Amino acid sequence: MNSDYANQSPAGEIALDARRVHTITDRFSMANTYLINEERMVVVDPGTELNVRQLQFYLQHFLHRTLQQIDLIVLTHLHPDHTSGVEALRKICDAPVAASAVARNLLQGQQKGHHSSSSIAHLAEHILTGPLQHVDLFPPVYEHQYKLVNIWLEDVAGLPGHPEWRVIASPGHTPESLCLYNPFSQELLCGDTVITIQGGAPLLRGSANRRQLSETLRVLRSLQVHYLYPGHGRPILALHPLTNVDVEW
Ligand SMILES: [Zn+2]
Repeated sequence: MNSDYANQSPAGEIALDARRVHTITDRFSMANTYLINEERMVVVDPGTELNVRQLQFYLQHFLHRTLQQIDLIVLTHLHPDHTSGVEALRKICDAPVAASAVARNLLQGQQKGHHSSSSIAHLAEHILTGPLQHVDLFPPVYEHQYKLVNIWLEDVAGLPGHPEWRVIASPGHTPESLCLYNPFSQELLCGDTVITIQGGAPLLRGSANRRQLSETLRVLRSLQVHYLYPGHGRPILALHPLTNVDVEW
């Protein structure tokens, strides 16, 4: 994990670029889908089929754009509440799907010398951490999500076709969790690494690996962030939104 992002950020506390991220969520707020509105658009975490329908409506009626102008779909992690809309979205746009290379590496590591179905189970066991483990993930679903991915993203790299958006590995909630950070608009899309709970307070999601979680927190706090977009709950607009984050150890 790289901690030099702060040095790459524009100086000062004022974002140089206007914000680009739009929030698409249903009224039950199960999981947030985000749209990066640039010349070519990026959808982050398509969520459910309902989110995809809302995304389509939002694009057409508020932004007057089409789904064909989406050129990339990014998954912050492979839990089904963030990924189950991928197939519905790909029926209506051709964009490839990107996720953290950590998931591929873990899976390949497990597959060496193991039968594939048991290795998937082993991987899921490894990934199952935190309070949602009993509902959020089970091996066949994870295997299914894995097959949806076309592009594997490395830590620190820019998003393909969108180099201003940096991939930040943020293991904790799951080993393959990632955030997307734009140092020019000072926006951070953080998936379930950070969520906001009732009242809008940020919560860093727990992990069996405390050292890894501390490192993720250290890296995220080193970023200049004005806009924090969590996988669940309301986005935060604030200077240093992670200063008083609660940590789910
Ligand atoms: Zn989630």
